[in-house]
Amino acid sequence: MNILKYGLFYLLETILRFLPLPQKTGLIKIGYPDRNSPVLLTGNYHLTVLKVKRALKGQNAFLLVANSHGINVWCAAAGGHFTNHGVISALKISNIQSLVDHRAVILPQLAACGIEAKVIDQRTGWKVKWGPVNIEDFPDYLKNGQKKTINMSVVRFPLRDRLEMAIAWAFWMSVVFSLVLLIIKSEAVVPAIIIVWLLAFFVFSTFPVYLPLLRPKEQEKQWEKRRIGRRIFLFSFLFLVLAGLGAYSLLTSHFTVNFLLFWGILSFVTVLLLGGDLAGSTPFLISEFREEKDFQVEVDGKKCRGDGICGIVCPLDCFTLDKQKRLAILERPEKCICCGACVVQCQFDALSYADKKGRRVSPDFVRKHKVGLSGKRKPRSTYATKKKGENIIENL
Ligand code: SF4
Ligand code: SF4
Repeated sequence: MNILKYGLFYLLETILRFLPLPQKTGLIKIGYPDRNSPVLLTGNYHLTVLKVKRALKGQNAFLLVANSHGINVWCAAAGGHFTNHGVISALKISNIQSLVDHRAVILPQLAACGIEAKVIDQRTGWKVKWGPVNIEDFPDYLKNGQKKTINMSVVRFPLRDRLEMAIAWAFWMSVVFSLVLLIIKSEAVVPAIIIVWLLAFFVFSTFPVYLPLLRPKEQEKQWEKRRIGRRIFLFSFLFLVLAGLGAYSLLTSHFTVNFLLFWGILSFVTVLLLGGDLAGSTPFLISEFREEKDFQVEVDGKKCRGDGICGIVCPLDCFTLDKQKRLAILERPEKCICCGACVVQCQFDALSYADKKGRRVSPDFVRKHKVGLSGKRKPRSTYATKKKGENIIENL
């Protein structure tokens, strides 16, 4: 695919990012793969497949595209759309076993919150290797003998990703605002679209500046501080918007209470919507499950065998492995976003979510209900109480 065509797809699919955009599942040959070539597997979100194919240009590999219902890997795995079943089907139906002499399949690391390596192995005989978080790192990962550096294992939210989110949000908000304004105040449509796009770019491009406000660094969970941080964040944006509107209205003699009120409310709603979903739009903010219920990942030292899988799949680099004691240590708990990947992958059930009251959410429940970052986030009551016939929370 030439650069122009790729650019057009990239732009169009970034604008439509919140919609599932499926592509055909199946096997794709990259270059001239032979019987020792690596086998990679990803979800069938069209833009992801495009990006992977582009990143792998010049390599020889097999790329399996499994059903993730047209949703990107992390969201699909966390939400129960990219599943063991999808991976097993892709491995079996593609007949890849007849094309290579090994049985190692490389999955994107961010699929670890939904796909169980142990089940894939049991059901197909294929060993899952967790590849890098970022697609762009695949060539270096393959060159490196399929070994990840720490940079390949952690999620980043660089300016390019933030601008993608700004475009996706601005597009949908422009559509909704335009439809409403066409009915009540059609002359405001164009300026409203301009304001929405400017604010979306402003909110996402300045993300690193206000991230510390939303996510205090201290080890102690300071949720109250975080809530205050959120308010400061919202009111700072509101203040900036109102100051800008005031300056504009004075300079252009549009200074009326109605003018300020109308555009102030529209800007505030825009910032409120953008800010309201920052947790869902960025990879750093903690799931409500942890914030509201105060659950945190806990290592059971008696069960841990020190194989280090939790550290390999953690996208926030929370674990350190004590090789002598063969024990995982949750050394950076403040970074944990409760994505669930470590709990899902620990083959010895040494990890679970626990709170200070001694309540625990078992690994099986986390696996079954995808209690983690996004997607099928369960209503709070589901994991806060015992449900009929289901031992959801066990008292220690
Ligand atoms: S907690 Fe589980 S995944 Fe992590 S090192 Fe121990 S046994 Fe392995
Ligand atoms: S420690 Fe937290 S962030 Fe890391 S994998 Fe486990 S749940 Fe996810």
